[in-house]
Amino acid sequence: MLPVVALVGRPNVGKSTLFNALTRSRDALVADMPGVTRDRHYGVCRTGERPFVVVDTGGLSGVEEGLDALTAQQVRLAIDEAQVLVFVVDARDGLLPQDRAILDDLRRSGKPIIAAVNKTDGLDLQNAMAEFSVFGLSSTLPLSAAHNRGTPELVAAVLPML
Ligand code: GDP
Ligand code: MG
Repeated sequence: MLPVVALVGRPNVGKSTLFNALTRSRDALVADMPGVTRDRHYGVCRTGERPFVVVDTGGLSGVEEGLDALTAQQVRLAIDEAQVLVFVVDARDGLLPQDRAILDDLRRSGKPIIAAVNKTDGLDLQNAMAEFSVFGLSSTLPLSAAHNRGTPELVAAVLPML
């Protein structure tokens, strides 16, 4: 069985766009409407030295009611089956309280976490990355999933953790 990597984070940070970039498919639903991926979605990333399964998840909003509760449950399942968690945040929004809440959740799993700071296109990289250093994660990488920038580096960071 191939190892599994889960993409988790708030709605609209670019998880499905990253999924598409990693799996080179247009299968994942990308939309301007937050939270459109209500279910888990699987693909295989073959761009690195070894293939791995990528799981796209609906956004963890921190509010676990109604549909959000269903999504949160799907995210929990994805976290359970993953060996590595890619925590996606939005450089344009900056660090939000929900991000901290989600990271606390992810840390409880005890699994290795890589932070992917997405939407850095057009931003000053050093500025964009600075506020996310408070995560204290050994791996916090800049990304522009929409422009396929930073994805090879992300794959290179994921592979040794699998
Ligand atoms: P998800 O809800 O986390 O799955 O986010 P989506 O992948 O659906 O993306 C949400 C929105 O952010 C869409 O309008 C994307 O086009 C946009 N987006 C995703 N990645 C990037 C990026 O790297 N740069 C910019 N500027 N926009 C992005
Ligand atoms: Mg999505």
